[in-house]
Amino acid sequence: MSFFQDTLSIFKKRELLFLESYKESEDVYTFLFEKEKDLTWKSGQHGLFRITHKKIKNPIRPFTVASVPTENVLKITMGISDDPSEFKKAMLELKQGMKVSMSGPVGGFYLKDNNPSILIAGGIGITPFRAILKQIEAEGKGGEKQIHLLYIDSKKSYIYKDELDEIADNPSISVTYLDSRNDLHQEIDKFTTLYKNNGNYFIAGPKAMVDSISTYLQNNNISKRNIKKDAFFGY
Ligand SMILES: Cc1cc2nc3c(=O)[nH]c(=O)nc-3n(C[C@H](O)[C@H](O)[C@H](O)COP(=O)(O)OP(=O)(O)OC[C@H]3O[C@@H](n4cnc5c(N)ncnc54)[C@H](O)[C@@H]3O)c2cc1C
Repeated sequence: MSFFQDTLSIFKKRELLFLESYKESEDVYTFLFEKEKDLTWKSGQHGLFRITHKKIKNPIRPFTVASVPTENVLKITMGISDDPSEFKKAMLELKQGMKVSMSGPVGGFYLKDNNPSILIAGGIGITPFRAILKQIEAEGKGGEKQIHLLYIDSKKSYIYKDELDEIADNPSISVTYLDSRNDLHQEIDKFTTLYKNNGNYFIAGPKAMVDSISTYLQNNNISKRNIKKDAFFGY
């Protein structure tokens, strides 16, 4: 999507009808919204979501759309701790039929070519990769792309695991679950040795983790322009 289209979509605000929410794990929740017919996005993009049913101080947050348009539902998944922000408290109050507003989706965090790609997710950073992998599954042309998902979570509470295992049946997609930084570096090294700067490097998750993996890659001679980052604040 071009910068021009991105700018247009960020100004396009729409109301989303809330359908349901459920717990994915101890402190992770998924929220589903109705997808209107004319709403579409590229898998990996994020929307700017605004609370509208009550007045709160900071009513807007970016969230990745974790579903693909063909699922006919707009899904977001977020970490919510025991002491949630006002925004997240308001999200938990949503009842069927209530609305939030969304601008976008926007952003350049999606696959643009068929080069081998490594997707590195830290915890909740799995959200864009669920969408990206679901898209490949829906298009049925995994064979053209070599995709390696590395999913690190120190608590080993891997959300979407059943779906990811199913997607990994596709011979061109591999999914590796990790819980230590050392093992993650080893897996990254395998990919950089094979593909160097002919591969795409996607990193999503808490900002500190994204920055440190990006530095690791650059120290291993991976060019900045081959590294795409989605850094989540607040974790
Ligand atoms: C492109 C993108 C996609 C995202 N997708 C997801 C997703 O799919 N799931 C998900 O759970 N989260 C996602 N996030 C993060 C999300 O927007 C929230 O920041 C996060 O959930 C924390 O929100 P909170 O209300 O709990 O905490 P907050 O109250 O927002 O913040 C907690 C802490 O972070 C600091 N902080 C907040 N925003 C900034 C900022 N812009 N710069 C520096 N410090 C800041 C605050 O000062 C505070 O200390 C995404 C963020 C981006 C940028």
